[in-house]
Amino acid sequence: MGVQITETTLRDGHQSLIATRMRTRDMLPIAEKMDQAGFFSLEVWGGATFDACIRFLNEDPWERLRSLRKIVKNTRLQMLLRGQNLVGYRHYADDVLDEFVRLSVKNGIDVFRIFDALNDLRNMEPAIKAVSKYKGHVQGTICYTTSPVHNNEKFAEMAKNLENLGCDSICIKDMAGLISPALATDLVKIVKSRANIPISLHSHCSSGMAPASYFAAAEAGVDILDTAFSAFGWGTSQPPTESMVATLQGTPYDTGIDLELMYEIGEYFASLAGKYRMLFTAETTRPSVNVLLHQIPGGMLSNLVSQLREQNALDKYGEVLKEVPRVRADLGYPPLVTPTSQVVGIQAVLNVLLGERYKQVTQEVKNYFLGLYGRSPGPVNEEIRTKVIGDEPVMEGRPADLLEPELEKLSEEGHKLGIIHSDEDLITYALYPQVAVKFLRGELKEEAMPSPVEATSKSSGVTDLPVEFAVDVDGEVFNVKVSSIMSKTISVESPQKPQEVPEGAIVSKMQGMILAIKVKAGDKVKEGDVLLTIEAMKMQNNIVAEYDGTVKELFSFQGEVVNAGDILMVVEADDK
Ligand code: MN
Repeated sequence: MGVQITETTLRDGHQSLIATRMRTRDMLPIAEKMDQAGFFSLEVWGGATFDACIRFLNEDPWERLRSLRKIVKNTRLQMLLRGQNLVGYRHYADDVLDEFVRLSVKNGIDVFRIFDALNDLRNMEPAIKAVSKYKGHVQGTICYTTSPVHNNEKFAEMAKNLENLGCDSICIKDMAGLISPALATDLVKIVKSRANIPISLHSHCSSGMAPASYFAAAEAGVDILDTAFSAFGWGTSQPPTESMVATLQGTPYDTGIDLELMYEIGEYFASLAGKYRMLFTAETTRPSVNVLLHQIPGGMLSNLVSQLREQNALDKYGEVLKEVPRVRADLGYPPLVTPTSQVVGIQAVLNVLLGERYKQVTQEVKNYFLGLYGRSPGPVNEEIRTKVIGDEPVMEGRPADLLEPELEKLSEEGHKLGIIHSDEDLITYALYPQVAVKFLRGELKEEAMPSPVEATSKSSGVTDLPVEFAVDVDGEVFNVKVSSIMSKTISVESPQKPQEVPEGAIVSKMQGMILAIKVKAGDKVKEGDVLLTIEAMKMQNNIVAEYDGTVKELFSFQGEVVNAGDILMVVEADDK
Protein backbone atom coordinates (compact mmCIF):
# COMPACT_ATOMS: atom_id res chain seq x y z
CA MET A 1 0.00 0.00 0.00
CA GLY A 2 1.11 3.53 -0.66
CA VAL A 3 1.57 6.30 1.84
CA GLN A 4 -1.46 7.55 3.76
CA ILE A 5 -2.24 11.16 4.62
CA THR A 6 -3.23 12.81 7.87
CA GLU A 7 -4.86 16.05 6.77
CA THR A 8 -4.13 18.86 9.25
CA THR A 9 -5.78 21.97 7.78
CA LEU A 10 -8.48 22.02 10.44
CA ARG A 11 -5.96 21.93 13.34
CA ASP A 12 -2.26 22.50 12.76
CA GLY A 13 -2.69 24.35 9.45
CA HIS A 14 -4.62 27.25 10.91
CA GLN A 15 -2.84 27.01 14.28
CA SER A 16 0.54 27.50 12.57
CA LEU A 17 -0.50 30.27 10.20
CA ILE A 18 -3.41 32.25 11.64
CA ALA A 19 -3.11 31.67 15.40
CA THR A 20 -5.87 29.00 15.51
CA ARG A 21 -8.64 31.35 14.44
CA MET A 22 -10.55 29.27 11.85
CA ARG A 23 -14.23 29.10 12.77
CA THR A 24 -16.31 25.91 12.82
CA ARG A 25 -18.81 27.48 10.41
CA ASP A 26 -15.97 27.71 7.86
CA MET A 27 -15.03 24.05 8.36
CA LEU A 28 -18.42 22.39 8.05
CA PRO A 29 -19.21 23.26 4.39
CA ILE A 30 -16.12 21.36 3.17
CA ALA A 31 -16.08 18.52 5.70
CA GLU A 32 -18.09 16.10 3.58
CA LYS A 33 -15.75 16.49 0.59
CA MET A 34 -12.75 15.98 2.88
CA ASP A 35 -14.40 12.83 4.17
CA GLN A 36 -14.61 11.47 0.62
CA ALA A 37 -10.89 11.80 -0.09
CA GLY A 38 -9.75 8.68 1.72
CA PHE A 39 -7.32 10.28 4.15
CA PHE A 40 -5.97 8.17 7.02
CA SER A 41 -7.34 10.83 9.36
CA LEU A 42 -8.40 14.45 9.67
CA GLU A 43 -6.62 16.27 12.46
CA VAL A 44 -9.32 18.59 13.75
CA TRP A 45 -8.92 19.06 17.48
CA GLY A 46 -6.49 19.49 20.36
CA GLY A 47 -3.31 21.54 20.53
CA ALA A 48 -4.43 25.14 20.78
CA THR A 49 -7.89 24.67 19.26
CA PHE A 50 -9.61 24.05 22.60
CA ASP A 51 -8.12 27.16 24.21
CA ALA A 52 -8.75 29.40 21.17
CA CYS A 53 -12.42 28.35 21.00
CA ILE A 54 -13.28 29.41 24.53
CA ARG A 55 -10.89 32.36 24.71
CA PHE A 56 -11.41 34.11 21.36
CA LEU A 57 -14.08 32.51 19.23
CA ASN A 58 -16.95 31.96 21.66
CA GLU A 59 -17.31 28.43 20.36
CA ASP A 60 -17.83 25.28 22.37
CA PRO A 61 -14.91 23.05 21.34
CA TRP A 62 -16.99 19.95 22.12
CA GLU A 63 -19.73 21.21 19.83
CA ARG A 64 -17.14 21.73 17.05
CA LEU A 65 -16.08 18.12 17.44
CA ARG A 66 -19.64 16.78 17.45
CA SER A 67 -20.68 18.75 14.39
CA LEU A 68 -17.63 17.57 12.42
CA ARG A 69 -18.29 14.01 13.56
CA LYS A 70 -21.84 14.22 12.23
CA ILE A 71 -20.55 15.00 8.74
CA VAL A 72 -17.30 12.99 8.69
CA LYS A 73 -18.63 9.44 8.65
CA ASN A 74 -15.78 7.47 7.08
CA THR A 75 -12.54 9.13 8.07
CA ARG A 76 -10.87 8.94 11.47
CA LEU A 77 -10.91 12.18 13.44
CA GLN A 78 -7.62 12.92 15.15
CA MET A 79 -6.49 15.19 17.95
CA LEU A 80 -3.19 16.38 19.42
CA LEU A 81 -2.92 15.65 23.14
CA ARG A 82 -0.13 17.19 25.22
CA GLY A 83 0.31 14.16 27.47
CA GLN A 84 -0.48 15.03 31.08
CA ASN A 85 -1.03 18.67 29.95
CA LEU A 86 -4.03 17.53 27.85
CA VAL A 87 -4.97 20.66 25.90
CA GLY A 88 -3.65 23.08 28.51
CA TYR A 89 -0.29 24.32 29.77
CA ARG A 90 0.17 22.45 33.04
CA HIS A 91 -0.07 18.94 34.35
CA TYR A 92 -3.60 17.96 35.33
CA ALA A 93 -4.49 15.28 37.84
CA ASP A 94 -5.16 11.76 36.55
CA ASP A 95 -8.91 11.96 37.20
CA VAL A 96 -9.20 14.98 34.88
CA LEU A 97 -7.13 13.16 32.28
CA ASP A 98 -9.31 10.05 32.37
CA GLU A 99 -12.55 11.98 32.06
CA PHE A 100 -11.14 14.17 29.28
CA VAL A 101 -10.18 11.13 27.23
CA ARG A 102 -13.51 9.41 27.89
CA LEU A 103 -15.44 12.43 26.62
CA SER A 104 -13.14 12.98 23.65
CA VAL A 105 -13.84 9.45 22.46
CA LYS A 106 -17.54 9.86 23.19
CA ASN A 107 -17.73 13.09 21.17
CA GLY A 108 -15.93 11.66 18.18
CA ILE A 109 -12.12 11.44 18.42
CA ASP A 110 -10.61 8.23 17.00
CA VAL A 111 -6.87 8.91 16.96
CA PHE A 112 -5.00 10.51 19.86
CA ARG A 113 -1.53 11.79 19.05
CA ILE A 114 0.08 11.93 22.48
CA PHE A 115 3.32 13.76 23.18
CA ASP A 116 5.39 15.11 26.05
CA ALA A 117 7.65 18.11 25.53
CA LEU A 118 10.54 16.35 27.29
CA ASN A 119 9.85 12.95 25.70
CA ASP A 120 9.39 11.75 29.30
CA LEU A 121 7.34 8.57 28.99
CA ARG A 122 6.06 8.91 32.55
CA ASN A 123 4.14 12.00 31.40
CA MET A 124 2.60 10.05 28.52
CA GLU A 125 1.78 6.71 30.07
CA PRO A 126 -1.50 7.59 31.84
CA ALA A 127 -2.83 9.17 28.62
CA ILE A 128 -1.77 6.12 26.60
CA LYS A 129 -3.51 3.83 29.10
CA ALA A 130 -6.67 5.95 29.15
CA VAL A 131 -6.96 6.06 25.35
CA SER A 132 -6.52 2.28 25.19
CA LYS A 133 -9.12 1.86 27.91
CA TYR A 134 -11.69 3.87 25.91
CA LYS A 135 -10.76 2.05 22.69
CA GLY A 136 -9.15 4.95 20.87
CA HIS A 137 -6.19 4.66 18.53
CA VAL A 138 -3.02 5.62 20.44
CA GLN A 139 -0.40 7.38 18.39
CA GLY A 140 2.68 7.67 20.60
CA THR A 141 4.84 10.63 19.69
CA ILE A 142 8.54 11.32 19.56
CA CYS A 143 9.29 15.05 19.73
CA TYR A 144 12.10 15.40 17.22
CA THR A 145 14.99 17.73 17.87
CA THR A 146 18.73 17.90 17.32
CA SER A 147 21.22 18.35 20.18
CA PRO A 148 24.36 16.74 21.62
CA VAL A 149 22.14 14.45 23.74
CA HIS A 150 19.69 13.40 20.99
CA ASN A 151 20.39 10.88 18.27
CA ASN A 152 18.50 8.45 16.07
CA GLU A 153 19.45 5.50 18.26
CA LYS A 154 17.71 7.12 21.26
CA PHE A 155 14.64 8.00 19.18
CA ALA A 156 14.45 4.40 17.96
CA GLU A 157 14.66 3.16 21.55
CA MET A 158 11.81 5.49 22.46
CA ALA A 159 9.78 4.14 19.53
CA LYS A 160 10.27 0.61 20.85
CA ASN A 161 9.22 1.71 24.35
CA LEU A 162 6.09 3.35 22.93
CA GLU A 163 5.19 0.16 21.10
CA ASN A 164 5.68 -1.80 24.31
CA LEU A 165 3.35 0.60 26.13
CA GLY A 166 0.60 -0.40 23.69
CA CYS A 167 0.71 2.37 21.10
CA ASP A 168 -1.03 1.58 17.79
CA SER A 169 1.22 3.83 15.72
CA ILE A 170 4.11 6.23 16.19
CA CYS A 171 4.49 9.82 15.11
CA ILE A 172 7.83 11.50 14.56
CA LYS A 173 6.86 15.07 15.40
CA ASP A 174 9.21 17.60 13.85
CA MET A 175 7.42 20.69 15.15
CA ALA A 176 10.09 23.18 14.07
CA GLY A 177 10.70 21.69 10.61
CA LEU A 178 14.32 20.71 11.30
CA ILE A 179 14.47 17.32 9.63
CA SER A 180 16.41 17.13 6.35
CA PRO A 181 15.87 14.45 3.69
CA ALA A 182 19.02 12.60 4.81
CA LEU A 183 18.06 12.72 8.49
CA ALA A 184 14.51 11.64 7.68
CA THR A 185 15.79 8.67 5.70
CA ASP A 186 18.00 7.47 8.57
CA LEU A 187 15.43 8.07 11.28
CA VAL A 188 12.50 6.45 9.49
CA LYS A 189 14.64 3.42 8.61
CA ILE A 190 15.88 2.84 12.13
CA VAL A 191 12.45 3.40 13.71
CA LYS A 192 10.84 1.04 11.17
CA SER A 193 13.45 -1.60 11.95
CA ARG A 194 12.74 -1.41 15.69
CA ALA A 195 8.97 -0.99 15.90
CA ASN A 196 6.35 -3.07 14.12
CA ILE A 197 3.59 -0.46 14.01
CA PRO A 198 2.83 2.24 11.41
CA ILE A 199 5.09 5.31 11.49
CA SER A 200 3.93 8.80 10.65
CA LEU A 201 6.08 11.84 9.97
CA HIS A 202 4.83 15.28 10.99
CA SER A 203 6.92 18.21 9.84
CA HIS A 204 6.64 21.90 9.02
CA CYS A 205 7.96 23.87 6.05
CA SER A 206 9.70 26.34 8.41
CA SER A 207 13.17 25.66 7.00
CA GLY A 208 11.81 24.84 3.54
CA MET A 209 13.03 21.22 3.55
CA ALA A 210 9.85 19.38 4.53
CA PRO A 211 8.45 18.44 1.08
CA ALA A 212 11.81 16.90 0.13
CA SER A 213 12.10 15.23 3.53
CA TYR A 214 8.62 13.75 3.08
CA PHE A 215 9.62 12.16 -0.20
CA ALA A 216 12.77 10.77 1.42
CA ALA A 217 10.67 9.43 4.31
CA ALA A 218 8.32 7.77 1.82
CA GLU A 219 11.28 6.06 0.16
CA ALA A 220 12.49 4.96 3.61
CA GLY A 221 9.15 3.31 4.36
CA VAL A 222 7.09 5.86 6.28
CA ASP A 223 3.39 4.91 6.46
CA ILE A 224 1.66 8.25 7.06
CA LEU A 225 2.54 11.87 6.20
CA ASP A 226 0.93 15.01 7.61
CA THR A 227 -0.13 17.66 5.11
CA ALA A 228 -2.35 20.75 4.96
CA PHE A 229 -4.15 22.22 1.94
CA SER A 230 -1.87 24.73 0.24
CA ALA A 231 -3.77 27.86 1.33
CA PHE A 232 -3.14 26.77 4.94
CA GLY A 233 0.13 24.96 4.24
CA TRP A 234 3.75 25.96 3.48
CA GLY A 235 5.62 28.39 5.73
CA THR A 236 5.42 27.35 9.35
CA SER A 237 2.61 24.90 8.47
CA GLN A 238 2.72 21.46 6.81
CA PRO A 239 3.67 20.64 3.20
CA PRO A 240 0.63 21.09 0.95
CA THR A 241 -1.79 18.19 0.59
CA GLU A 242 -2.44 18.66 -3.14
CA SER A 243 1.27 18.88 -3.97
CA MET A 244 2.22 15.83 -1.89
CA VAL A 245 -0.56 13.75 -3.44
CA ALA A 246 0.74 14.83 -6.86
CA THR A 247 4.39 14.25 -5.87
CA LEU A 248 3.71 10.65 -4.88
CA GLN A 249 1.44 9.84 -7.83
CA GLY A 250 2.78 7.06 -10.02
CA THR A 251 5.41 6.02 -7.47
CA PRO A 252 5.26 2.98 -5.16
CA TYR A 253 4.13 5.45 -2.47
CA ASP A 254 1.06 6.68 -4.39
CA THR A 255 -1.63 7.81 -1.94
CA GLY A 256 -4.40 6.73 -4.31
CA ILE A 257 -6.17 10.02 -3.57
CA ASP A 258 -8.07 11.73 -6.38
CA LEU A 259 -6.12 14.82 -7.40
CA GLU A 260 -9.19 16.50 -8.90
CA LEU A 261 -10.96 16.30 -5.55
CA MET A 262 -7.83 17.78 -3.96
CA TYR A 263 -8.02 20.67 -6.38
CA GLU A 264 -11.67 21.26 -5.54
CA ILE A 265 -11.08 21.25 -1.77
CA GLY A 266 -7.94 23.35 -2.26
CA GLU A 267 -10.01 26.00 -4.04
CA TYR A 268 -12.41 26.16 -1.11
CA PHE A 269 -9.58 26.80 1.34
CA ALA A 270 -7.95 29.30 -1.02
CA SER A 271 -11.08 31.41 -1.00
CA LEU A 272 -11.42 30.95 2.75
CA ALA A 273 -7.85 32.18 3.23
CA GLY A 274 -8.99 35.44 1.62
CA LYS A 275 -11.41 35.98 4.48
CA TYR A 276 -8.63 35.45 7.03
CA ARG A 277 -5.96 37.27 5.03
CA MET A 278 -5.26 39.92 7.66
CA LEU A 279 -4.05 37.20 10.04
CA PHE A 280 -1.32 35.84 7.78
CA THR A 281 2.13 37.34 8.45
CA ALA A 282 5.39 37.38 6.54
CA GLU A 283 7.16 35.57 9.39
CA THR A 284 4.89 32.55 9.18
CA THR A 285 4.38 32.23 5.43
CA ARG A 286 8.03 32.36 4.37
CA PRO A 287 10.58 29.63 5.11
CA SER A 288 13.81 30.57 6.88
CA VAL A 289 16.79 28.25 7.36
CA ASN A 290 17.66 30.26 10.48
CA VAL A 291 15.27 27.92 12.31
CA LEU A 292 17.99 25.26 12.12
CA LEU A 293 20.10 27.34 14.51
CA HIS A 294 17.57 28.52 17.09
CA GLN A 295 15.00 25.69 16.65
CA ILE A 296 12.10 27.91 17.72
CA PRO A 297 8.83 26.60 16.30
CA GLY A 298 6.88 29.01 14.11
CA GLY A 299 4.13 29.92 16.53
CA MET A 300 6.69 30.82 19.18
CA LEU A 301 8.76 32.86 16.77
CA SER A 302 5.98 35.24 15.82
CA ASN A 303 5.14 35.41 19.52
CA LEU A 304 8.70 36.44 20.40
CA VAL A 305 8.64 39.16 17.77
CA SER A 306 5.43 40.64 19.12
CA GLN A 307 6.65 40.35 22.74
CA LEU A 308 9.88 42.16 21.90
CA ARG A 309 7.91 44.82 20.07
CA GLU A 310 5.78 45.31 23.19
CA GLN A 311 8.98 45.65 25.23
CA ASN A 312 10.24 48.22 22.75
CA ALA A 313 13.21 45.95 22.22
CA LEU A 314 12.80 44.65 18.69
CA ASP A 315 16.44 45.62 18.09
CA LYS A 316 17.38 42.82 20.52
CA TYR A 317 15.74 40.15 18.33
CA GLY A 318 19.04 38.84 16.94
CA GLU A 319 20.58 38.67 20.40
CA VAL A 320 17.58 36.78 21.75
CA LEU A 321 17.77 34.23 18.94
CA LYS A 322 21.40 33.59 19.91
CA GLU A 323 20.51 33.32 23.60
CA VAL A 324 17.75 30.72 23.03
CA PRO A 325 20.16 27.83 22.25
CA ARG A 326 22.30 28.76 25.29
CA VAL A 327 19.31 28.64 27.65
CA ARG A 328 18.21 25.41 26.03
CA ALA A 329 21.67 23.92 26.71
CA ASP A 330 21.49 25.07 30.36
CA LEU A 331 18.17 23.21 30.67
CA GLY A 332 19.56 19.95 29.28
CA TYR A 333 18.36 20.42 25.67
CA PRO A 334 14.57 20.09 25.91
CA PRO A 335 12.86 19.89 22.51
CA LEU A 336 11.15 23.23 21.93
CA VAL A 337 7.40 22.66 21.84
CA THR A 338 4.56 23.81 24.11
CA PRO A 339 5.30 24.43 26.95
CA THR A 340 9.13 24.21 26.87
CA SER A 341 9.34 26.61 23.89
CA GLN A 342 7.74 29.31 26.03
CA VAL A 343 9.84 28.47 29.10
CA VAL A 344 13.12 28.69 27.18
CA GLY A 345 12.11 31.57 24.89
CA ILE A 346 11.00 33.91 27.64
CA GLN A 347 14.03 33.21 29.83
CA ALA A 348 16.22 34.05 26.84
CA VAL A 349 14.35 37.35 26.45
CA LEU A 350 14.85 38.15 30.16
CA ASN A 351 18.56 37.28 30.00
CA VAL A 352 19.04 39.67 27.11
CA LEU A 353 16.77 42.50 28.31
CA LEU A 354 18.26 42.57 31.83
CA GLY A 355 21.82 42.43 30.55
CA GLU A 356 22.71 39.62 32.96
CA ARG A 357 21.92 35.93 32.55
CA TYR A 358 19.42 34.52 35.10
CA LYS A 359 19.43 37.77 37.08
CA GLN A 360 15.70 37.27 37.03
CA VAL A 361 14.10 33.89 36.57
CA THR A 362 10.51 32.99 35.76
CA GLN A 363 8.54 30.68 38.04
CA GLU A 364 8.38 28.25 35.13
CA VAL A 365 12.19 28.00 34.90
CA LYS A 366 12.32 27.40 38.66
CA ASN A 367 9.73 24.65 38.30
CA TYR A 368 11.71 23.17 35.45
CA PHE A 369 14.85 22.95 37.57
CA LEU A 370 12.76 21.52 40.42
CA GLY A 371 11.81 18.64 38.10
CA LEU A 372 8.15 19.61 37.89
CA TYR A 373 8.04 19.24 34.10
CA GLY A 374 9.72 15.84 34.18
CA ARG A 375 13.17 14.55 33.39
CA SER A 376 15.35 16.75 31.20
CA PRO A 377 16.79 14.96 28.15
CA GLY A 378 20.38 15.77 29.15
CA PRO A 379 21.94 16.95 32.40
CA VAL A 380 21.12 20.55 33.33
CA ASN A 381 23.81 23.16 33.99
CA GLU A 382 24.51 22.59 37.71
CA GLU A 383 25.83 26.07 38.30
CA ILE A 384 22.70 27.68 36.89
CA ARG A 385 20.45 25.25 38.76
CA THR A 386 22.09 26.18 42.06
CA LYS A 387 21.74 29.86 41.19
CA VAL A 388 18.03 29.36 40.47
CA ILE A 389 16.80 26.92 43.15
CA GLY A 390 19.65 26.83 45.68
CA ASP A 391 19.64 23.51 47.51
CA GLU A 392 15.91 22.83 47.16
CA PRO A 393 15.31 19.14 46.43
CA VAL A 394 14.63 18.08 42.86
CA MET A 395 11.51 16.01 42.20
CA GLU A 396 12.61 12.62 40.88
CA GLY A 397 9.26 10.90 40.34
CA ARG A 398 6.40 11.49 37.92
CA PRO A 399 5.36 15.13 38.42
CA ALA A 400 1.61 14.43 38.33
CA ASP A 401 2.00 12.11 41.33
CA LEU A 402 2.10 15.31 43.38
CA LEU A 403 -1.42 16.22 42.24
CA GLU A 404 -4.52 15.37 44.27
CA PRO A 405 -7.67 14.42 42.35
CA GLU A 406 -9.28 17.64 41.12
CA LEU A 407 -12.69 16.85 39.65
CA GLU A 408 -14.88 16.57 42.73
CA LYS A 409 -13.93 19.96 44.08
CA LEU A 410 -14.22 21.58 40.66
CA SER A 411 -17.63 20.02 40.13
CA GLU A 412 -18.84 21.48 43.42
CA GLU A 413 -17.41 24.89 42.57
CA GLY A 414 -18.77 24.85 39.03
CA HIS A 415 -22.25 23.84 40.09
CA LYS A 416 -22.27 26.58 42.70
CA LEU A 417 -21.40 29.03 39.93
CA GLY A 418 -24.24 27.59 37.86
CA ILE A 419 -22.06 27.05 34.80
CA ILE A 420 -21.96 23.25 34.55
CA HIS A 421 -24.71 21.82 32.35
CA SER A 422 -22.92 18.73 31.06
CA ASP A 423 -19.95 16.46 31.73
CA GLU A 424 -18.16 18.34 28.96
CA ASP A 425 -18.74 21.69 30.68
CA LEU A 426 -17.06 20.34 33.80
CA ILE A 427 -13.95 19.37 31.84
CA THR A 428 -13.88 22.74 30.06
CA TYR A 429 -13.99 24.35 33.51
CA ALA A 430 -11.34 21.97 34.89
CA LEU A 431 -8.94 22.75 32.06
CA TYR A 432 -9.35 26.53 32.01
CA PRO A 433 -11.03 27.62 35.25
CA GLN A 434 -10.65 31.35 34.65
CA VAL A 435 -11.38 31.58 30.94
CA ALA A 436 -14.15 28.99 31.06
CA VAL A 437 -16.36 30.87 33.53
CA LYS A 438 -16.94 33.77 31.16
CA PHE A 439 -17.44 31.41 28.24
CA LEU A 440 -19.81 29.03 30.04
CA ARG A 441 -21.84 31.97 31.33
CA GLY A 442 -22.33 33.07 27.75
CA GLU A 443 -20.58 36.37 28.37
CA LEU A 444 -17.83 35.90 25.82
CA LYS A 445 -18.05 37.76 22.52
CA GLU A 446 -16.56 36.33 19.36
CA GLU A 447 -13.39 38.20 18.50
CA ALA A 448 -13.86 40.49 15.53
CA MET A 449 -11.91 39.75 12.38
CA PRO A 450 -9.35 42.52 11.81
CA SER A 451 -10.38 44.56 8.80
CA PRO A 452 -7.88 45.66 6.12
CA VAL A 453 -8.56 49.31 7.02
CA GLU A 454 -7.59 48.81 10.66
CA ALA A 455 -4.51 46.85 9.76
CA THR A 456 -3.16 49.31 7.23
CA SER A 457 -3.62 52.23 9.62
CA LYS A 458 -1.17 50.59 12.05
CA SER A 459 2.30 52.03 11.78
CA SER A 460 4.35 48.87 12.35
CA GLY A 461 3.67 47.47 8.90
CA VAL A 462 3.26 43.99 10.37
CA THR A 463 -0.15 42.50 11.04
CA ASP A 464 -0.96 43.52 14.56
CA LEU A 465 -2.66 40.69 16.35
CA PRO A 466 -3.66 41.59 19.86
CA VAL A 467 -1.06 40.47 22.36
CA GLU A 468 -2.86 37.97 24.50
CA PHE A 469 -1.51 36.27 27.52
CA ALA A 470 -2.64 33.10 29.18
CA VAL A 471 -1.30 33.58 32.66
CA ASP A 472 -1.41 30.46 34.75
CA VAL A 473 -1.28 31.28 38.45
CA ASP A 474 -1.40 28.18 40.60
CA GLY A 475 -3.65 26.54 38.08
CA GLU A 476 -5.94 29.53 37.56
CA VAL A 477 -5.59 30.78 34.03
CA PHE A 478 -5.96 34.54 33.74
CA ASN A 479 -6.75 35.98 30.38
CA VAL A 480 -4.75 39.14 29.88
CA LYS A 481 -4.93 41.18 26.74
CA VAL A 482 -2.37 43.91 26.32
CA SER A 483 -2.66 46.34 23.48
CA SER A 484 -1.07 49.73 23.07
CA ILE A 485 -4.45 51.40 23.51
CA MET A 486 -5.18 49.54 26.73
CA SER A 487 -1.82 50.30 28.32
CA LYS A 488 -2.34 53.98 27.59
CA THR A 489 -5.79 53.96 29.14
CA ILE A 490 -4.54 52.25 32.26
CA SER A 491 -1.52 54.44 32.78
CA VAL A 492 -3.88 57.42 33.02
CA GLU A 493 -5.52 55.80 36.03
CA SER A 494 -2.28 54.76 37.71
CA PRO A 495 -1.01 56.58 40.77
CA GLN A 496 0.95 59.71 39.98
CA LYS A 497 4.48 58.54 39.41
CA PRO A 498 7.33 60.81 40.51
CA GLN A 499 8.97 62.83 37.74
CA GLU A 500 12.49 62.02 38.85
CA VAL A 501 13.76 58.67 40.00
CA PRO A 502 14.07 58.89 43.80
CA GLU A 503 16.72 57.01 45.73
CA GLY A 504 15.65 53.45 46.42
CA ALA A 505 13.29 53.37 43.46
CA ILE A 506 12.34 49.93 42.16
CA VAL A 507 12.11 50.41 38.42
CA SER A 508 10.41 48.01 36.05
CA LYS A 509 12.84 46.45 33.61
CA MET A 510 10.06 45.26 31.36
CA GLN A 511 6.64 45.95 30.01
CA GLY A 512 4.09 43.76 31.69
CA MET A 513 1.14 43.53 34.02
CA ILE A 514 1.35 43.61 37.79
CA LEU A 515 -0.15 40.37 39.02
CA ALA A 516 0.41 40.85 42.73
CA ILE A 517 1.95 43.31 45.13
CA LYS A 518 3.28 41.52 48.18
CA VAL A 519 4.13 44.52 50.37
CA LYS A 520 2.56 47.75 51.57
CA ALA A 521 3.97 51.08 52.60
CA GLY A 522 5.79 50.80 55.90
CA ASP A 523 6.67 47.09 55.51
CA LYS A 524 10.15 45.98 56.46
CA VAL A 525 11.75 43.83 53.79
CA LYS A 526 14.83 41.66 53.73
CA GLU A 527 17.14 41.13 50.79
CA GLY A 528 15.57 38.51 48.54
CA ASP A 529 11.97 39.12 49.70
CA VAL A 530 9.44 39.22 46.87
CA LEU A 531 8.08 42.75 46.45
CA LEU A 532 5.76 42.16 43.54
CA THR A 533 5.08 39.86 40.62
CA ILE A 534 4.98 41.11 37.04
CA GLU A 535 3.50 39.00 34.33
CA ALA A 536 5.32 39.56 31.07
CA MET A 537 5.49 37.42 27.99
CA LYS A 538 3.28 34.68 29.46
CA MET A 539 5.65 34.21 32.43
CA GLN A 540 5.59 35.38 36.00
CA ASN A 541 8.55 37.35 37.25
CA ASN A 542 9.14 38.02 40.92
CA ILE A 543 10.80 41.35 41.64
CA VAL A 544 12.81 40.92 44.83
CA ALA A 545 14.39 43.36 47.25
CA GLU A 546 18.08 43.72 46.55
CA TYR A 547 18.80 44.94 50.10
CA ASP A 548 17.20 45.10 53.57
CA GLY A 549 14.98 48.13 53.96
CA THR A 550 11.55 49.69 54.39
CA VAL A 551 8.87 50.19 51.75
CA LYS A 552 8.41 53.95 51.56
CA GLU A 553 5.77 54.38 48.89
CA LEU A 554 3.93 52.35 46.23
CA PHE A 555 3.51 53.71 42.72
CA SER A 556 1.79 50.73 41.18
CA PHE A 557 -1.31 48.63 41.67
CA GLN A 558 -2.46 45.12 40.92
CA GLY A 559 -3.64 44.80 37.34
CA GLU A 560 -1.67 47.81 36.17
CA VAL A 561 0.14 47.54 32.85
CA VAL A 562 3.59 49.06 33.34
CA ASN A 563 6.32 49.92 30.89
CA ALA A 564 10.05 49.45 31.11
CA GLY A 565 11.45 52.34 33.16
CA ASP A 566 8.29 52.91 35.22
CA ILE A 567 8.87 53.41 38.95
CA LEU A 568 6.98 50.72 40.85
CA MET A 569 7.80 51.59 44.47
CA VAL A 570 10.46 53.07 46.68
CA VAL A 571 12.33 50.92 49.19
CA GLU A 572 14.60 52.85 51.51
CA ALA A 573 17.70 50.91 52.51
CA ASP A 574 18.36 50.28 56.19
CA ASP A 575 21.31 52.20 57.54
CA LYS A 576 24.34 50.01 57.40
MN1 MN B 1 2.87 20.73 14.24
